[in-house]
Amino acid sequence: MTEISDMDFKDHKSGYVALMGKPNVGKSTLLNHYIGQKIAAVSYKPQTTRRRQLGILTTEDAQIIFVDTPGLHTGDYKLSQIINEEAEYALMDADVILFVADASGTPDKEDVRLAEVIREKAGDAVRLLVLNKTDLVDLSDAAQREKAYRELLDFDRHIWVSAITQEGRQELLTEIIDLLPEGPKYYPEGQITATYEREIAEDLIRAAAMHHLREEVPYGIFVSVNDYKKRSETLRYIHATIFVENESHKGIVIGRGGRMIKEISTMARQEIEEMSGEMVYLDLKVKVKKNWRNDPDFLRRFGLSHD
Ligand code: GDP
Ligand code: MG
Repeated sequence: MTEISDMDFKDHKSGYVALMGKPNVGKSTLLNHYIGQKIAAVSYKPQTTRRRQLGILTTEDAQIIFVDTPGLHTGDYKLSQIINEEAEYALMDADVILFVADASGTPDKEDVRLAEVIREKAGDAVRLLVLNKTDLVDLSDAAQREKAYRELLDFDRHIWVSAITQEGRQELLTEIIDLLPEGPKYYPEGQITATYEREIAEDLIRAAAMHHLREEVPYGIFVSVNDYKKRSETLRYIHATIFVENESHKGIVIGRGGRMIKEISTMARQEIEEMSGEMVYLDLKVKVKKNWRNDPDFLRRFGLSHD
């Protein structure tokens, strides 16, 4: 960061906003609407967002750095542990915490657990309850739902939104800016996620694979982008590997006559092109890495571990 004098951020607000919430409540959808790019992979399957992802929104008088976190996991895998650490780091850095809830249902054990983690780790960040999926809630249920979620935690404020119909979207943004501390523009305008594009590409490939594979290879895949090169002004070359846990999964991912991998590749390429605004040549390979979810060396190599 360059030096910044007091003058630079008079009347200017900035800070970190952590999007917390169990999988599938709509965190990524909400974020994508604000940022206007597919920076957080949206999938009908939970657990697509593995690592923290930054989305930077710069307005005339504020800069909001959204941090989309993976949901908290309960599995025994080493990976689950690391994902939880990621979510905790996001919490500790945050100025504002958005507890995103799916108001089309009532709070469950996972919401209770997340509330506990926030209470323990969040320090003095402002806590905002975001009751999402308003479009699916009957008016007659609304008051009772609101009460149930508000009882989870000592929230500073709450707001009803729909990430899909965009109801409440502007109001939520206004609230967030209102709650942020005064501060400078940390990032140059227009810079959205340059350094994160590669990771986003990984997430988009993974989301495309999950979309096509459905239940067949549940969570047993990991995507790594090995090469992310500009070939010309308009063309990006990406080489990526899908790691699977065993040979039979490899066969499923490739599919008969390579049909499955081709479909995954086409969808992923289109999504990456939409995200980056560049033409993409995607070279996608499948490799077996036995038991990768419990392999500390593998997890460390791909930045999924802090130790
Ligand atoms: P995340 O796991 O919290 O990041 O959730 P996603 O953003 O991936 O959303 C999960 C699913 O819920 C997707 O199918 C979204 O289209 C859907 N969804 C998100 N927000 C809303 C909403 O406000 N209304 C409705 N009806 N669906 C939503
Ligand atoms: Mg997500």
